[in-house]
Amino acid sequence: MSNTHATPTSYEISVGAACKRLGYGPTIESLLSLAALELKVEIPIVRDNGELAIFTGYRVQHQNVRGPCKGGLRYHPDVDIQEVRELAALMTMKTALVNIPLGGGKGGIACNPHEMSQRELEVLTRKFVKRIHREIGPNSDIMAPDVGTNAQTMGWIHSEYSAIYGHSPAAVTGKPLALGGSPGRNTATGHGIAIVVAEYARHHRMPLKGSTAVVQGFGNVGFHAAQALAALGIKVVAISDSRSAVYRDGGIDLAALSDQKHARGSLKDTEGHDSLEPDALFEIPCDFLVPAALGDAIHAGNVARLACRIIVEGANAPVTAEADLTLRERGIAVIPDILANAGGVIVSYFEWVQNLQRQVWALETVDAELERLLGNATREVLAHAAGADLDLRSAAFDIAVRRVKEALEATGL
Ligand code: NAD
Repeated sequence: MSNTHATPTSYEISVGAACKRLGYGPTIESLLSLAALELKVEIPIVRDNGELAIFTGYRVQHQNVRGPCKGGLRYHPDVDIQEVRELAALMTMKTALVNIPLGGGKGGIACNPHEMSQRELEVLTRKFVKRIHREIGPNSDIMAPDVGTNAQTMGWIHSEYSAIYGHSPAAVTGKPLALGGSPGRNTATGHGIAIVVAEYARHHRMPLKGSTAVVQGFGNVGFHAAQALAALGIKVVAISDSRSAVYRDGGIDLAALSDQKHARGSLKDTEGHDSLEPDALFEIPCDFLVPAALGDAIHAGNVARLACRIIVEGANAPVTAEADLTLRERGIAVIPDILANAGGVIVSYFEWVQNLQRQVWALETVDAELERLLGNATREVLAHAAGADLDLRSAAFDIAVRRVKEALEATGL
């Protein structure tokens, strides 16, 4: 991917190193580094106060050699082309690693959804679709929820796209169930994290009962990951959102925290929990630390203070390239994003398949298939890491890069 930063991104380092290990030349490395298509659109909307505001939206299609581009749509003030590019490229690796017939894409609009009304968000989303509809669709590029977007956002995309092309549920995933969403999609990323952790623990003969976890982020991924880890018998002792963090020695009470968050907009001062500064979260001793908020959460400035044994990357790119090196030196294992949070894209794939075939799967089918695909991918990464004496990120990139390269080659390239 062309990178405007002076230092290479974590993705570029991982792909470059994998190409070297696998003996692939510079052409493959360039193909895996560059995005196939980048869209930037300006979206004017009339705010509720009558003023005109213009938002910038992006969609990047990184690779579609293994299938249509697939990836989330993010609404956050910090969204820019560089971030969307890196996230799109990671999606190519993720879909290849878990071996589903999809490529990689990502989108975003630089906006603060917490300061916008539902009407403003709906107008913004529909106008974004009007701008980019020629480039997206069931056979080209399929969006899904990410930071700041949810099933409702996907419902608006479905409605706008279908108004142009006729009923097209397979054009977007993570939709409300009433519009052809899949059972299990909302919880899939968080539950996938628990599937990967359970497989990791089995491989290392590590008992999960009595082990501890700390989770950063109280959104879709953080909340459902905490819930699923607790269901494995892991004691989740702390969790945070952007403004607050809470700790409870005996394990947090997710229902109480959820009530507090809905009532007060913050986790702070939830009864029975100690309130902490969000920055103190990473210093809590634990077995599993799950960053499940934004990118670059673990960086050169805080990596020395981490007190966990294993990092499970719930978020995309939560560890900077520099911090990644320090973690290796410190002997802290990292279960990489392209494996740890792949449950979401796997169930998005199931949703796409159901929509294309006009079928509705039972939740049990979704759960069993998620467990099968993600369990297989995790065992494959663990076996390759052990066999080639690699860290888990390198092992995962080897497998993903090889799959994409084989597909490119099979096209005659
Ligand atoms: P979300 O918008 O539902 O939640 C994000 C959460 O992060 C919010 O609770 C927010 O308060 C919190 N947060 C933001 N800044 C923080 C900070 N500095 N400290 C602590 N918490 C902070 O988003 P999400 O869908 O849960 O996505 C979270 C991450 O997981 C992103 O990196 C996303 O790309 C990745 N991801 C999401 C999915 C999915 O299915 N939603 C799938 C794969 C990966």
